[in-house]
Amino acid sequence: MDEMLQVEELSGGYSDKNILKNISFSVSRGEMFGILGPNGSGKSTLLKMISRLLPYKSGQITIDNRSLQTFSSKDFAKLMAVLPQVSSEVFPFTVKETVELGRYAHQRGLFHSWSREDESVVQEVMALTKVKGLQGVSLQELSGGERQRVFLAQALAQEPNILILDEPTNHLDLSHQKVLLDQMKRWTRQRGLTVVTVFHDLNLAALYCDRLLLLDEGEVIHIGTPEEV
Ligand code: ATP
Ligand code: MG
Repeated sequence: MDEMLQVEELSGGYSDKNILKNISFSVSRGEMFGILGPNGSGKSTLLKMISRLLPYKSGQITIDNRSLQTFSSKDFAKLMAVLPQVSSEVFPFTVKETVELGRYAHQRGLFHSWSREDESVVQEVMALTKVKGLQGVSLQELSGGERQRVFLAQALAQEPNILILDEPTNHLDLSHQKVLLDQMKRWTRQRGLTVVTVFHDLNLAALYCDRLLLLDEGEVIHIGTPEEV
């Protein structure tokens, strides 16, 4: 197994509030790895630590055997894209500008002028996430589900090696859930994209994920294939 992301004996939380207790697991390259658990069990906290948005108290997280802290912000931005649980921020941008921002992030820190290749990636992810028809529309005018798809497009436009998603199907109807998750699965198979995603719905997670991790009160209850859970 080609292990890409490793979390070892991870503990920590917010100031003096300990949330995660001794969490260990690893994720392989090209795997779709699902995290499930009740409200408040620490799923988002775990994703925040993996995406360097929250420091942890003890243990370690490595990517390709390198500790998270050793990546420069530029390298880290190229490696990982993150779609947080609440993307309620409404920026004064159009759909196309928002997706282009993801593309700029991909090039972050580099001297870069807009290329034909960037434009084709932007168009591709807008088509995949079904927001192409909305490209000139301002974010303020979108529904919750449309906005969720735009932020997903922004994350994909970064062409990350690892995609971190917190309840990506929030606000999405069944047909959009299926389109997006099918697409994501294809990217793991074809491009070796590694996906770590929180799900609320066990059935949906079992359908799409290679393995599932169950969290409860900040502890790992079970890790295994959907058949084993
Ligand atoms: P949900 O299914 O509702 O999204 P979750 O599993 O993602 O839940 P977390 O957001 O990780 O849960 O929260 C875990 C615990 O940490 C909860 O008890 C929550 O109150 C607490 N918590 C979350 N964010 C903060 C914060 N910024 N400061 C202090 N405590 C927090
Ligand atoms: Mg959460």
